[in-house]
Amino acid sequence: MISTAELSLNESMLALDRAHLVHPVANWRGHEQRGATVLQSGRGAWLRDAEGRELLDAFAGLWCVNIGYGHDSVVEAAARQMRKLPYATGYFGFSSEPAIELAAKLVEIAPAGLDHVYLTLGGSEAVDAAVRLIVQYYNSTGRPRKKQFISIERGYHGSSSTGAGLTALPAFHRGFDLPRPEQHYIASPYPYRNPAGRDAKAVIASSVAALRAKVNELGAENVAAYFCEPIQGSGGVIVPPVGWLKAMREACRELDILFVADEVITGFGRTGPMFACDAEGVSPDLMTVAKGLTSGYAPMGALLMSERVYAGIADGTPSGAVVGHGATYSAHPVSAAVALEVIRLYEEGGILANGQRVARHFESGLQAMLRHPLVGDARSRGLLGALELVSDKVTKERFDPALDLPDRLAAAGYRNGLIFRAFGDGILGFAPALCYTPSEFEAMFERLQRTLDEVLDQPEVRRAV
Ligand code: PMP
Repeated sequence: MISTAELSLNESMLALDRAHLVHPVANWRGHEQRGATVLQSGRGAWLRDAEGRELLDAFAGLWCVNIGYGHDSVVEAAARQMRKLPYATGYFGFSSEPAIELAAKLVEIAPAGLDHVYLTLGGSEAVDAAVRLIVQYYNSTGRPRKKQFISIERGYHGSSSTGAGLTALPAFHRGFDLPRPEQHYIASPYPYRNPAGRDAKAVIASSVAALRAKVNELGAENVAAYFCEPIQGSGGVIVPPVGWLKAMREACRELDILFVADEVITGFGRTGPMFACDAEGVSPDLMTVAKGLTSGYAPMGALLMSERVYAGIADGTPSGAVVGHGATYSAHPVSAAVALEVIRLYEEGGILANGQRVARHFESGLQAMLRHPLVGDARSRGLLGALELVSDKVTKERFDPALDLPDRLAAAGYRNGLIFRAFGDGILGFAPALCYTPSEFEAMFERLQRTLDEVLDQPEVRRAV
């Protein structure tokens, strides 16, 4: 135990954090050395840290606080539900009003055909439920050989034991004995670095061909499903061309494999419409959501499934048997009440519409950054975007990892009062809340410009350009 007697409040918090709190997706020893940054409060797009510093959050927490911080009506919805009934199980036929209303609301706003909703605690659990239920579906419907899963390089589908294998990022595999033998990847569409070039038709054709080739290699009779994010988030905000999602969906139909859209980041207005699938009229067989569902005010995710998948499992379950998937906190009533209020704010509170209105300020600000010597690519859809930094704009060569450019940028950004995400390979990710105003975008890009300039002025970086 740590004696906190002689330390200031912040210092004692930092010491306790080092000693006891294990952080997600972190270098544990590195974290002990550096220590934490303690955030204390938030309002709108702004955060305040434990030292009183005001920060503009250009990443919506972890691309989840889509409505922004400090909405009292969400707090009240949670408090009301906690007072009335803080918990109700969904086991043994029990249910709760917020869970029922939320399932119905999600079916109403989701792409057509997704009529059944399983409510989870977050995105990883929704993906894990999708995998388990797809296995159950093929066993139930008499095609037990269909057990191979395909996803995309640089894809992210959470960190459950199954989802981390669908995730195709080395950090999530290293030391975890992943991927599993039934998990396979095809190339990312990655327009900026696609060997087929940047042209939309070529990018789409290369992805469809890769999927066909992988399914043929494995045998269509063995392939269960294809998982994709409409825009790859944690892999570096990779924005495929318009039409890509629809083409992949159609290919899955032709190949007789289930199409799973992982909208954990792209859902709830992040890319403009309520779901990214809506922009292309795509109806997936299954869809996972989380993050913006509650805007981070309470933990919750959901798996939506089509009648075909639901009925396949339901009709294949012997009478008297159960589908053995569930958790104590499935369909938690407090999280459901929060989600209902958050969705009301998107719709009736005008937050979705605001996000659509201000997206052009985001896009033009990112595009203007292309003039900066460090920036090779600027890409976005709606309020999800990235800058990719290169040491040579012609060859698109990445910076030497030894330069620690992402850390330099995140640290300089923080000093300038701006929070964004710096990915390991020199990609800066942005996901501002949908409540941003045009003047907040001005502040964001002014701080970002200053940050890039300062880092470029560091002698080691200057030498590398
Ligand atoms: N899928 C995608 C596309 C995600 O981006 C994430 C989280 N970043 C997840 C799944 C996992 O969600 P969670 O962190 O809520 O478990």
